[in-house]
Amino acid sequence: MSTKKAVATTVADDTTGKKSMPKKTVTSKKTEQTAVPVAQMSALDGFGKFTPYDEKAGEEYMNAPQSEHFRQILLAWRQELMEEVDRTVHHMQDEAANFPDPNDRATQESEFSMELRTRDRERKLLKKIDEALEALERGEYGFCESCGVEIGIRRLEARPTATLCIDCKTLDEIREKQRG
Ligand SMILES: [Zn+2]
Repeated sequence: MSTKKAVATTVADDTTGKKSMPKKTVTSKKTEQTAVPVAQMSALDGFGKFTPYDEKAGEEYMNAPQSEHFRQILLAWRQELMEEVDRTVHHMQDEAANFPDPNDRATQESEFSMELRTRDRERKLLKKIDEALEALERGEYGFCESCGVEIGIRRLEARPTATLCIDCKTLDEIREKQRG
């Protein structure tokens, strides 16, 4: 109540007492709170823009249409990731300004090291996508590298760079944990 009164009096001084002014102050506060930028989904987290493959009964695994389906997913994902890498590079070039304030410099440095880590992850993912595309060319895509079983369309759609079936992947993760 006391703050509202204070606002009202300052407004009254400025604009000969219009009652709508304090209301506006309240709404602008609300928009400030919701204007926090929503984290965008990164191409690093996966590729989501595709229609799930409609598998017909008795269809041969990794036949031509299926291979093409995953080629398209991998190529589109690769493209999106490359664009993201471009944006990161440009952002870093744009931001590479001289900040006289040491605090600004520190913030900038930590932002840069975060972006460098992101670029590292992007590079690794690009390599995986390329390897998946190569496996597709060889006709080896979609089969478990460890036991040779079919990885499966749904798992591949969720994780187009998967090289292990879910069983071998689970086993792999258990071994990883045991190694510490
Ligand atoms: Zn396997």
